[in-house]
Amino acid sequence: MIGAIIGDMVGSIYEFNNIKDKRFFLLTKCSTITDDSFMTMAISRALLDCDEDIKEKRDGYEQKLYDKCIEYMVYYGRRFPDAGYGSRFAKWLKDESRKPYGSYGNGSAMRVSPVGWFCDSLEDTLRIAVITASPSHNHEEGIKGAQAIAAGIYLLRTGSSKDEFKKYITDTFGYNLDRKLDDIRPDYSFHVSCEKSVPEAIIAFLEGESFEDVIRNAVSLGGDSDTIACMAGALAEAIYEIPEEIRASVKENLIEQREVTRKDFDFYNLVVIGKKSKAFGEQSFNMPNPWEYPLDHSIEEFYKGFHDRLRDQVEINFENGKRVGTIELMKELYEEIKVLEPGKGCDKRLLEIAEYFGYIKRYSTCMKICDSIIESGADAETGKKANQLKEDLRTFYFISRGIISWDR
Ligand SMILES: [Mg+2]
Repeated sequence: MIGAIIGDMVGSIYEFNNIKDKRFFLLTKCSTITDDSFMTMAISRALLDCDEDIKEKRDGYEQKLYDKCIEYMVYYGRRFPDAGYGSRFAKWLKDESRKPYGSYGNGSAMRVSPVGWFCDSLEDTLRIAVITASPSHNHEEGIKGAQAIAAGIYLLRTGSSKDEFKKYITDTFGYNLDRKLDDIRPDYSFHVSCEKSVPEAIIAFLEGESFEDVIRNAVSLGGDSDTIACMAGALAEAIYEIPEEIRASVKENLIEQREVTRKDFDFYNLVVIGKKSKAFGEQSFNMPNPWEYPLDHSIEEFYKGFHDRLRDQVEINFENGKRVGTIELMKELYEEIKVLEPGKGCDKRLLEIAEYFGYIKRYSTCMKICDSIIESGADAETGKKANQLKEDLRTFYFISRGIISWDR
């Protein structure tokens, strides 16, 4: 699971800036985790929630896991809306019906790695992989890709050699793994299908000599770099030790970018560590709690400053505060935003309303209005203010996560 996350972070800056070479900066300050990591976390949390049900095969456990996968994917999708989701998947996240849409994209394979660690038999691994893929990627190829990566992790971590693993994948899924990276690289371009990226990720793994070497192989192919490196990294983690300096850099980036908390790594700490070879001596991946992050202000200070600024604005904009906080005004404003069209000369008014909703602690509405202003390409000053408000909300959300949450 950490291997997948590291691969995603390394590949993130090369996805739209392909580098057809193994010499590149492994991790920079701009390297960040993307949809691949968040969806991996989603599946890991769904598995943890259904832990006993799956192990004891309790009635309805398959449906429960299916539902939990959706719940957590939507949760992470909302928590990290700008993580680089494919357009159809982004639509699926927003569409309340959440019907599977027959995807054969590599999204099913990029998120499946926790299954390879969770299950205690190959048969279970294959079966559970299908459930984690099905909510969106119910196409035969989408399912196959997920099964191949999950089964691969299971086999490798339980002692299969690379040759045995290669034979199994070839015989079971029909991927051509006899190709060489040097032959694939020159003509390889951006493919998001499982069929055209899962076998390539596997070959990157097969040719690698260490964890880092596998990741470099994967990125050197070009194409959908973060996802290929995510899948290859997930396989590499099963048999290679992850160097401490890489883990430390990844952690440092995560802390600076304020993306994730300890809970997001529960699965790794509770399940993966216990099943990894003792020889690796790997430590748990502990992120600080939100309130331990190195912020230059405390929650109270930040909140007070944020809240006071909003109050001042609201007093100016809403009749000196006479109707502020009343249900009537709130209802009126909800009606008003329905008819205001962002980008059509009403962005200033929308911003006033966003500030109001921020002030009365309707944070999700406030965030949504800010987004609509920013997306409309409002005038520079209004856009800047909407951006600032959104930034403040994100900071507030981050430092207080666990205390309040507007997305669940
Ligand atoms: Mg990505």
